[in-house]
Amino acid sequence: MTTWQKELQKNIRTLDELQSQIDLTKNEIAAFDNLNFPLNITRHYFSLIDKNDSNCPIRKQCIPNKQEQTIQKKEEPDPIGDLKHNPLPGLIHRYPDRCLIFPKMFCAGFCRFCFRRSVAGKNNKNYQFKLKPVLNYLKKHSGIKEIILSGGDPLILDDNQLAEILAKLNEIKHLRWIRIHTRVPVTLPQRVTPQLAKMLQQYCPLWIVIHINHPREISPEFIKNITHLQKNQINLLSQTVLLKGINDKTKTLQGLFYKLTEVGIKPYYLHQADLAPGTGHFRISIKKGQKIMSELQKTTSGICLPKYMLDSPDGTGKKCL
Ligand SMILES: *Cc1c(COP(=O)(O)O)cnc(C)c1O
Repeated sequence: MTTWQKELQKNIRTLDELQSQIDLTKNEIAAFDNLNFPLNITRHYFSLIDKNDSNCPIRKQCIPNKQEQTIQKKEEPDPIGDLKHNPLPGLIHRYPDRCLIFPKMFCAGFCRFCFRRSVAGKNNKNYQFKLKPVLNYLKKHSGIKEIILSGGDPLILDDNQLAEILAKLNEIKHLRWIRIHTRVPVTLPQRVTPQLAKMLQQYCPLWIVIHINHPREISPEFIKNITHLQKNQINLLSQTVLLKGINDKTKTLQGLFYKLTEVGIKPYYLHQADLAPGTGHFRISIKKGQKIMSELQKTTSGICLPKYMLDSPDGTGKKCL
């Protein structure tokens, strides 16, 4: 077993383990009475928490809260209408020139606001990826130019598993480049090894979009390990979810986007939080989001600014807000 796989085995997954490491609030403890999305925190991500701050932005992203039990009427297990564009298990084809595949519906750590919380870590049949039928589908659809490995998190596959998928995709000539969506550089930076970067380089052009929400997630380990990717010609973008009480301040987002740009990651998307069940306490209104964006536009270099996006609940796709 590699270092990062051993590290993953040490994840915090139970209330007892969590309480042995940190003093929880009443609302955090009450969350465990009826937890509908499991606890799963990497040691690295946990180490970024300020244990003396019950409002710590890292803490709120990974430690469950009783508020998750409040399900709003408009919330939906399939909040962006993926299943309207699901021609075979493990593949979503919503746009003509690109599609998503889900090689692994599991993540290094679980985010409490996860928009796929109804399927992540579960064996939902619509998301059960099998390489052969997926490859056959892609071969038949020559309009597809880009394939996006999403999830879950594709980077918790080991190097061999990942290389097998990438090699097969590489054989399909109408696929012009590959994209990977991941949060691993933030939650499990040890996974981003020089060997992984070297392997990935064989499948360039490759774009990696890193899910990152707060400047404190840019740890020294994060910076050190994304350098391996950069040295191997892999292009880096970021995506951020706009989260109430975590990053819904102009200054916080500006700090995040400045830091990302400084380390060579282009901020790509800022997402309006989706209508996933039990995530209402994380959402701010689109109007407030637009106000923050317009303040950013007035003060911040254009190359630091992502687009503010809504993924429509009806399944029709992303819209710029
Ligand atoms: C979000 C998404 C994409 C990627 O969209 P971009 O705007 O290209 O980043 C592709 N396919 C599906 C099904 C998606 O949900």
